[in-house]
Amino acid sequence: MPAMTPAQLAKGALRRLAQAQLEPTPEHYARAYAEEAGQPPPPDSRAAGAQWANLIERLTRGLDRSARQWTTARKKESLQRVLEGSASDAQRLQQRLQSLLQAWETDGPVDPESGVTAPPASGTAAVAAGAGGWPAAAQALERTVLVALPPDEPRARALADELGVLAERLARDGTDAATLLAVEDVCVRAQRLLSHRHGLFDDLGRLCNELTAGLTELAEDESWARGQCESLQAGLAAGVNTRSVRAATELLAETRSRQQRIRDERSAASRALKDLIQCLLGELGELGEHTGRFGESVGRHAEAIARAETLESLAGVVQQLVDETHAVQSLVQGTQQRLQRDHARAGELEARVRELETELRRLSEEVLTDALTQVANRRGLQQAFEAESARAERDQGLLAVGLMDIDNFKRLNDSLGHAAGDVALKSLAAAVRDRLRPVDTVARFGGEEFVVLLPGTPADEAQQVLTRLQRALSASLFMHDGREVFVTFSAGVTAWRRGEPLESALERADEALYEAKRSGKNRTCAA
Ligand code: GH3
Ligand code: MG
Ligand code: MG
Repeated sequence: MPAMTPAQLAKGALRRLAQAQLEPTPEHYARAYAEEAGQPPPPDSRAAGAQWANLIERLTRGLDRSARQWTTARKKESLQRVLEGSASDAQRLQQRLQSLLQAWETDGPVDPESGVTAPPASGTAAVAAGAGGWPAAAQALERTVLVALPPDEPRARALADELGVLAERLARDGTDAATLLAVEDVCVRAQRLLSHRHGLFDDLGRLCNELTAGLTELAEDESWARGQCESLQAGLAAGVNTRSVRAATELLAETRSRQQRIRDERSAASRALKDLIQCLLGELGELGEHTGRFGESVGRHAEAIARAETLESLAGVVQQLVDETHAVQSLVQGTQQRLQRDHARAGELEARVRELETELRRLSEEVLTDALTQVANRRGLQQAFEAESARAERDQGLLAVGLMDIDNFKRLNDSLGHAAGDVALKSLAAAVRDRLRPVDTVARFGGEEFVVLLPGTPADEAQQVLTRLQRALSASLFMHDGREVFVTFSAGVTAWRRGEPLESALERADEALYEAKRSGKNRTCAA
């Protein structure tokens, strides 16, 4: 059918009015015209009035209702914005008010189409990001959830999977309110999970504090353990961070393994002493038995001698007596020798027990040097840092802090043995010590980690110094059991900032070190 002209439509509309016996008011005419043209009817002003009345009623109720995210102030502010933004367009105003009311009533975010920004506390920063980057934003959220929560946490995995699905849906079907609400929902659940884990983290911090406080009280005065505990406590008081937690763990593990080793050796020595005493008692008993029997046979022989009538019979008895005397003599001699040997062994064992006890005491003494590598230990480092940072503060000078960690050390230990690992630690410490200036500090920070303090050095220069050191080490080696062994390390450097504690600078250096490890090892990064 050909399209009708406006004149034909107007005629048709009038015919409809006449048939329906309706007055030709503008509204009736407009409706009849739309029907004639096959278009949707124009808005009914009575229905529109009812819709507005309903909206206003919901608005008044909504303003009174209290909600977690939509406070009264926020509601008023958003209402103001909607009114300002669409006062000239009744249809748009109605649409945006609908959206806003829905958000109030569900205490949720607002459809971005409405143009109203949700309150910041609702966590909808992403909603405000606009439709363009939504798939990318959802992917970034997925990655964030995976990094922020442990991957073996099933709820984290489920949230990340959900975000992955939503990212795909956003990329495929574009932005729609339902998908965005679903993203919002996942975000709220992720926030809940994360804030719960933050609580856990705080609890762990308190546990560390309690543990170190307990250890400090238990440790003997002026002992190595007390020194370590006090510096740990100071570190923890400044706030829990990865370094302080790791340091606490390492301290506990190191203390436990040192004590275990010494306890084992001591109980082995005590066991040996006990065995020895048992042995001595046995020998004495045996000797007593022999001498007892010898006494008896001497008595018998004396009687036989008294009774002997011939020289021959006397000679026989004497011969027997002489043989028995010889036998007892050699037995006594042997026992005497064994006793002397055992006595010497007991002396040795006693000396070893004394040595081990001295070692235990030595461990408990405050020392500044690491026994294995002969460079400063943590306490020595802290002391050097206090002096150097005070000097830098006074002279307006610089201080670079570097953290070094041997590469693949576990592998070296596993393939060549712990002793070779110890030699590697010693060689590395000596090489670093030899190549740095006398004003620089080298300290063993823990297992296979070293810290260097370079006074008067900017971070980029410190990075060059450590890179040169790495090149020099790459070209050198040490010998172990006739085999050539290369040791490399990765490092992170940072410039100490006035007033900050060593731990803060080390935390930054650790980030740079992590970067160096991640980007291939045997290199130095700066933070
Ligand atoms: P990466 O390159 O990532 O640093 O690898 P790595 O193997 O060095 O990593 P990790 O830090 O996990 O391993 C350090 C190992 O150092 C574990 C521990 O057995 C060993 N270690 C710690 N202290 C000593 C020590 O005093 N002597 C020896 N021989 N080994 C130690
Ligand atoms: Mg390490
Ligand atoms: Mg290592």
